[in-house]
Amino acid sequence: SNVSFSFRGNNFVREAIHSVFLYHAIRAGMDMGIVNAGVLPVYEDIDAELRTRIEDVILNRRPDGTERLLEIAERFRASAGEKKGGDDLAWRDKPVRERITYALVKGIDAFAEADAEELRVQLAADGKRPIEVIEGPLMEGMNVVGDLFGAGKMFLPQVVKSARVMKKAVAHLIPFIEAEKKPGDAQQAKGKIVMATVKGDVHDIGKNIVGVVLQCNNYEVVDLGVMVPPQKILDAAREHKADVIGLSGLITPSLDEMVTLAKEMERQGFELPLLIGGATTSRAHTAVKIDRAYHGPVIWVKDASRSVPVVAGLLSAEQKPALLASTRKDYDEIRERHANKDRQEKFVTLAEARANRTPIDWAGYQPPRPRLLLQQARDVCGGADCDHRHHVATQFVKTLRDYPLAELREYIDWQPYFIAWEMKGRFPDLLNNPATSEAARKLWDDTQAILDRVVAEKWLTANAVFGLFPARQVDDDDIAVYSDESYAHEIARLHGIRQQSEHRPGVPHRCLADFVAPAASGLHDYVGAFAVTAGIGASERIAAFRKANDDYSAIILEAIADRLAEAFAERLHQRVRKEFWGYAADEHFSNDELIAEKYIGSGGGIRPAPGYPACPEHTEKQTLWQLLDVENNAGISLTDSMAMWPGAAVSGWYFSHPQSQYFVAGRINKDQVADYAKRKNWTLAQAEKWLASNLGYEPED
Ligand code: SAH
Repeated sequence: SNVSFSFRGNNFVREAIHSVFLYHAIRAGMDMGIVNAGVLPVYEDIDAELRTRIEDVILNRRPDGTERLLEIAERFRASAGEKKGGDDLAWRDKPVRERITYALVKGIDAFAEADAEELRVQLAADGKRPIEVIEGPLMEGMNVVGDLFGAGKMFLPQVVKSARVMKKAVAHLIPFIEAEKKPGDAQQAKGKIVMATVKGDVHDIGKNIVGVVLQCNNYEVVDLGVMVPPQKILDAAREHKADVIGLSGLITPSLDEMVTLAKEMERQGFELPLLIGGATTSRAHTAVKIDRAYHGPVIWVKDASRSVPVVAGLLSAEQKPALLASTRKDYDEIRERHANKDRQEKFVTLAEARANRTPIDWAGYQPPRPRLLLQQARDVCGGADCDHRHHVATQFVKTLRDYPLAELREYIDWQPYFIAWEMKGRFPDLLNNPATSEAARKLWDDTQAILDRVVAEKWLTANAVFGLFPARQVDDDDIAVYSDESYAHEIARLHGIRQQSEHRPGVPHRCLADFVAPAASGLHDYVGAFAVTAGIGASERIAAFRKANDDYSAIILEAIADRLAEAFAERLHQRVRKEFWGYAADEHFSNDELIAEKYIGSGGGIRPAPGYPACPEHTEKQTLWQLLDVENNAGISLTDSMAMWPGAAVSGWYFSHPQSQYFVAGRINKDQVADYAKRKNWTLAQAEKWLASNLGYEPED
């Protein structure tokens, strides 16, 4: 059985493997074995395709044997004669209380209303009130879910599905509860959390998952949504008599917003605990910046699974002192380490960093001229034997509206999808890992079913705009963008951040401007810009799912829109390399190779995104928006913190030089911040605000 051990849970395939193994082993001379003869399929009866792929593995016939067997193994699970159809419903014969728990654990919502009704009638016969259905059997069931989740035996997608069952049952009961409500009926929840994504930010999926998980644990959640101004959050906390405020954010400018809110809580005399979560937040930033601004408890919540124990701890009189003490100790240590680290980090001067830029041999280089521009020059000239070198083309902006979703689907990278659901492990292996496979597969199937409808019924609209522009590096760290190939009229300037921390000898101090030919070289070089979204139309659908108490499908759809936007960025970059710019016309990469960014190593260039490590300063997106008129052409707008709306959007620059690569600009010193401020026509304080996450020194207040 060791031969088939990895297929635990799929007995149909396991038994076929055993049978194939025995068949060959016996022919090779094996004369004794211990087998369960009752479940050994006849070698000849095994499906020919399955048998071939098993033999490929058993006989080690081809290097991709494992993948090929995994590929089809799942298909045979269902046909394994495992109980299906009518037998599946055996649990319906159990008493209703057991049924409701079963339905909650399994996330089956088909009977939620009927079972809630049966319980209501049953309790009413004993003189009990409709609310007691929730407080009794439904909460008991959710407690089982909570325990299984806490023990790592259930996963987030399953919990969110349980919430759907719960919400549907509760929705059925509400009219009955309202009808017999007595004055003074108390709120039954364990506590109330007001949650919001801070002003200027559109982070949503993680916050929604946290909200659902807390609701499953009988906390009341007031979700104020995204882009919520600070005073609105504080007013809502007062109005709802919240026990806790939860903030989330995705982009670096939101870190500052969180500090602002903490300061406001201090100023307005709040005592409530403040929870911090979301992609750019961190224990360190919470300890060093937010916690110092507010005397009440401030706790960073690493992920949705942590939210329940943290909230429970904060709201329990016994646990709270220990939780606060351990958090304080933790944060004190972080602050101490942080103070030391700040003192340790060494910088070179901006001038030294510039002198040590990425070494690129411009003299021996001919930048590739975008095909679209060559086409323009050709159209103007018409000459058959002309190389059009000396004909001037303008910049080129192209819009792709309502892009086929079926095409984008092929470019999806599913790994981040499972990370969003806090499902650990590598995709696609996690679909076969015995510890996670049941939950992962269910999520996968549910996701594919929704994605099928997204594509077939056009639930989402995908738009893109991109441009290819004549450009040259100027002033060391900037890139000038020109109206046309005469390189005479500058229409925009991109501002770069240069690495400035001390490097080992021989390691350059990089800046994105290094990858474009310097003005002095006289070369005709180019830079590209793009913005894509797959999120148009998403919010209506998502709201409809929510209204139907189906957060599970709502979150899946939201995450699918994100995936399609990233897939669009990948696909468009590929088309730019192969067709529109055309310098890598012969490139052939599989989707896995694209995801692994194999094109970078083979001269394909990069697509760094403003707000990411190589170009961390978010306001550069404004330049990109102007160059491409993104708002009109693609329907994506920028918030005042430079987040993109709809949230399922990606934007960035294209660099074609084969030596261009991603890097982390990291921390920078005051001389660079001052120089940057000058180049952007900003005050030093403005520069320090937008570069807050990159400052290598403490700015003066
Ligand atoms: N396959 C992923 C998308 C790729 S994320 C998904 O589906 O989610 C990688 C992208 O992040 C890059 O294409 C680039 O746009 C951006 N990026 C990564 N590292 C960067 C860096 N150091 N600086 C700027 N942008 C970076």
